[in-house]
Amino acid sequence: MKRIAEYREEIHTCSKCGLCQSVCPVYKITGNDCTVSRGLFIMLKGLIKGELKMSKNMNRYLDLCLKCGACSKFCPSEIDVVDIIASAKAEYFKTSISEKFISFVQKQIFFGIGINFLKLFSQNIKSKHFDKKVIYFGGCSGNMKGNRAVVKLLNSCNIEVITPDFHCCGIPFYVRGDVQTFDNFKQSYLDIISKYNIKEVVTTCASCEKTIKSFNSEIDVKNIFVYLKEHNLKLRLKKNKKVTFHKPCNLDNYEDIKWVLQNTENLEYKEMNGFDECCGLNGISKIWEYKIMSKIFRNKRKNIQNTGAKTVLTSCLGCEAALSLYSFGQYKVEDFTEFLVNNIL
Ligand code: SF4
Ligand code: SF4
Repeated sequence: MKRIAEYREEIHTCSKCGLCQSVCPVYKITGNDCTVSRGLFIMLKGLIKGELKMSKNMNRYLDLCLKCGACSKFCPSEIDVVDIIASAKAEYFKTSISEKFISFVQKQIFFGIGINFLKLFSQNIKSKHFDKKVIYFGGCSGNMKGNRAVVKLLNSCNIEVITPDFHCCGIPFYVRGDVQTFDNFKQSYLDIISKYNIKEVVTTCASCEKTIKSFNSEIDVKNIFVYLKEHNLKLRLKKNKKVTFHKPCNLDNYEDIKWVLQNTENLEYKEMNGFDECCGLNGISKIWEYKIMSKIFRNKRKNIQNTGAKTVLTSCLGCEAALSLYSFGQYKVEDFTEFLVNNIL
């Protein structure tokens, strides 16, 4: 990770046009420039120049950012705000005991999700000749739910799946600024992947996909839905189901997912308004910011309910957790890959 001072030039390219304000879910609620990239960059410029000091207040604004990246996609200067904020968080992390404590607790939780009993049911189809092999990076999701769904779907595409033991991809530590822990995860995963001499890595979680892509450009990381579309795999559900889909901010290939949603028999897909707006995951633990975050959650819940679907599909464990937490029993949230395998004939 680059130090915040190394982003000086990039931050300088911000023209202060303010276009980021029109897409930032936090700014839309607060109306405060310090909660959107333009204001954050002005603050960080002051920090780099030594005119401002890193403080609890500055950290509050860094934390209020949901790291959804909506502003970066809209920014004429294409400034990657998520990386810059992670770098600023790393500055704060060095001096903050509370951040170190939270990171320690996170580590216990993510390593606790380490034993995958469900792997017992995840073997590839025996006595079948496969066209190729891929490595499945399951992350926390794979460790909690097992690999059965991904193995079954990819075997149907004539692809063999290798399922090494992976834990969390490390993204929660990256956004908190715990560079050391993130780098430890990264190195251990690169070591595991290099042992297999396989260049393709498949994920079912958009956040894992984005993180593994950032590790090493020689690894070809793809979401499972890319393979399903490439192989023209048309599935059929046992019963009619009406669903909607929440697009995780870290997902690049919505078109592949949409193809599967629209080409699965007995599946009625209703696209929701704001299907690509952030679920607010990064705000879930910020009880002290509840007034701001609850408005984001309420908008999302309303958009889901307006579709009339009782099931929301997604493809990121974090989004799944956030959407479920504030569903209040109004709808069920499921991982799309799991949903397919649980409902196909
Ligand atoms: S859209 Fe980009 S260039 Fe314009 S103010 Fe926001 S960060 Fe700066
Ligand atoms: S990443 Fe998302 S929440 Fe953060 S400033 Fe950009 S649009 Fe706003």
